[in-house]
Amino acid sequence: MRMGIGFDTHRLVEGRKLILGGVDIPHETGLLGHSDADVLTHAIMDALLGAIADGDIGQHFPDTDPKWAGADSIALLRAVVARLSDQGWRVGNVDATVLAERPKLMPHLPAMRERLAAAMNVDVGAVSVKATTVEGLGAIGRREGISALATATVLPLA
Ligand code: MG
Repeated sequence: MRMGIGFDTHRLVEGRKLILGGVDIPHETGLLGHSDADVLTHAIMDALLGAIADGDIGQHFPDTDPKWAGADSIALLRAVVARLSDQGWRVGNVDATVLAERPKLMPHLPAMRERLAAAMNVDVGAVSVKATTVEGLGAIGRREGISALATATVLPLA
């Protein structure tokens, strides 16, 4: 078994959708980025790539490449899982925490787990997504952005 860690942050702005874990969440602001800016899915992708020491998402899906403009991050996660598979690995489990002052994410966590698990070909019981505020402190507390942390284990395919 191997393990990895991932972290990501995106800025919250008006006029963008808020997509977290592949789920479109109604909110007055959304995350800014070259892709759909799904900060949770990005942190998970980096944790998986970290587990197999295969670089990071900035390397595999550079934000300078027009190919990834507006990209569905769930599709990118599937591509990362295919990279794992090509190298003899499958996803073991994922644990993630989203740091967001608003909106309240608890009602959306089950849908995020379902989407992420389906993209990674694992049972929903292998995918944990948690949410916390930062008690109003700092940039996240001022609702200027959202961050996500993830850890993942990978197991040999055979
Ligand atoms: Mg990102």
